[in-house]
Amino acid sequence: MSRRTLTGTGATPRAAVGTVVWYSRDSDLGDPDETSVDPPTELERFEDAREAARAELEAERERTAERVGEQEADVFDAHLQFLNDPQIESGVSSGVENDLPAEHAVKRAFADPIEQFQDMDGRMAERADDLRDVRDRLIRLLTGSERVDLGDLPDGAVVLAERLTPSDTAQLDPGRVAGFATVTGGRTSHAAIFARSLALPAVVGIGDELHEVEEGATVVVDGETGELCLDPSDEHREEAMATGEVDVRTDPVSTADGRAIEVAANVGQPAELDGVRAQGADGIGLYRTEFLFLDRQSPPDEDEQYDAYTTALETFPDGRVIVRTLDIGGDKPIPYLDLPDEENPFLGERGIRRSLDSDTELFETQLRALLRAAADGDGELAVMFPLVTTVDELDAALETVGAVAKQLDAENVAHAVPELGVMIETPSAVFAAPELAERVDFLSVGTNDLTQYTMAAARGNENVEALRDPTQPAVLRAIERTVDAAHENDAWVGMCGEMAGDPDLTELLVGLGFDELSMSAVTVPDVKAAVRSIHTDDAAAHATRALDAATGEQVRTQLNE
Ligand code: PEP
Ligand code: MG
Repeated sequence: MSRRTLTGTGATPRAAVGTVVWYSRDSDLGDPDETSVDPPTELERFEDAREAARAELEAERERTAERVGEQEADVFDAHLQFLNDPQIESGVSSGVENDLPAEHAVKRAFADPIEQFQDMDGRMAERADDLRDVRDRLIRLLTGSERVDLGDLPDGAVVLAERLTPSDTAQLDPGRVAGFATVTGGRTSHAAIFARSLALPAVVGIGDELHEVEEGATVVVDGETGELCLDPSDEHREEAMATGEVDVRTDPVSTADGRAIEVAANVGQPAELDGVRAQGADGIGLYRTEFLFLDRQSPPDEDEQYDAYTTALETFPDGRVIVRTLDIGGDKPIPYLDLPDEENPFLGERGIRRSLDSDTELFETQLRALLRAAADGDGELAVMFPLVTTVDELDAALETVGAVAKQLDAENVAHAVPELGVMIETPSAVFAAPELAERVDFLSVGTNDLTQYTMAAARGNENVEALRDPTQPAVLRAIERTVDAAHENDAWVGMCGEMAGDPDLTELLVGLGFDELSMSAVTVPDVKAAVRSIHTDDAAAHATRALDAATGEQVRTQLNE
């Protein structure tokens, strides 16, 4: 095959070279034969397949818990539930009664639920992948088709697939597989999140063109640029191989002239903690606790949360762990919480708004777990509130912290009030930053949301992707204002949006005055290296020039100079 580049969405800023292995699924059954079937026999076949699927899922659950972590393994519980779903069961029964062989009845029974989930927003849409996963497993067992063993691929394989479901990715051995690329999927699909937690090079959402890549082809999969390059040049291969060699520094770093910058990592689940430490993060700058609440039937209780937070603190006994209280709504729905069906959920009930209104009990439980962990854990805990837009919201949240501390006091339960902070994710929070900073220990700029709300460009909407650029002058000026407001009010200031993980922007952020930067673990080594090469005076001048620019184009020109 001749040299060619296909483009999708990069999932991990790592590249690798390898040999294509196609992983195809077996749900394409063609049309059923005209012959009639014996319904009781077909139902029995379905029951046998379901039993076998259950056994497989339980084994995979155990393997994933061991290899990746308990949280990732939870997804198999959801699969087991789909397997026992009465709607699916009655769909299969009515299919076989209508003369369909069991495998065709399964395919039909799953069609509607898959479509329903697919039409929903954000992470709910990804439940459609879970259903497909269960459907394909049953069909494979019913048709006796050969299974491509993803757990036993040749060294250096680059797996290409229509999509990779959670059980597929859980089988991949990052020590052997070079990377993967898929036809479907986005940055928040299960496959992409998994790739990031394993630092596995991956490109998702390439589209149908991917089907043109042949088995055995040599490719470079570049999760940084989002490209899959077929038949790469020798130079390109060497470059890709070199990106795997990272210079990990586990000690804290300072600029060349001695200003300390904390370089921390963002995590979503306990299983990522070891990997984060291995990349040399100084601590956790954003623990997205909503992942503890996803893919399950009820919220984690106080003790389960306490364990999760103390585990994080134990991983960084000399560092700081910043836990963000539950940030659901927007693109982060949780089925059992009965979120309202809003026309524009990004401007609706999300983040602290829910914690102070519909989810007060959950908020108090989470704060109880956090205050207990602050007293018992090894490292230093900090807690921050998401999507704050008014000073009143912050006051109410701080009041709840005080009330929870009193409750624990009265119960004689050991606790401590950790450092407290506010995420700056909306223009209103930027304008209120002095008053917010006055009340807390720190501010943390969430550029993912701050950019979306400042530029009026929704996250996930490809049509406005060009506007969703944190180096737009308006966003840069909002960031500058926040940093100044923090420092003028004796608060320290960090950044935990994706912008913090771009080493090309580290000098700008140091120049703006950030004390801490928190990012996906894989970018920690590059950002630490960038910090060490920076002189703060030069960085400040660089930031001033960028802030003077009137257009995005001028900012980029400044940054490139
Ligand atoms: C942000 O908005 O920048 C942020 C870090 O939070 P999340 O991406 O979880 O919304
Ligand atoms: Mg956010």
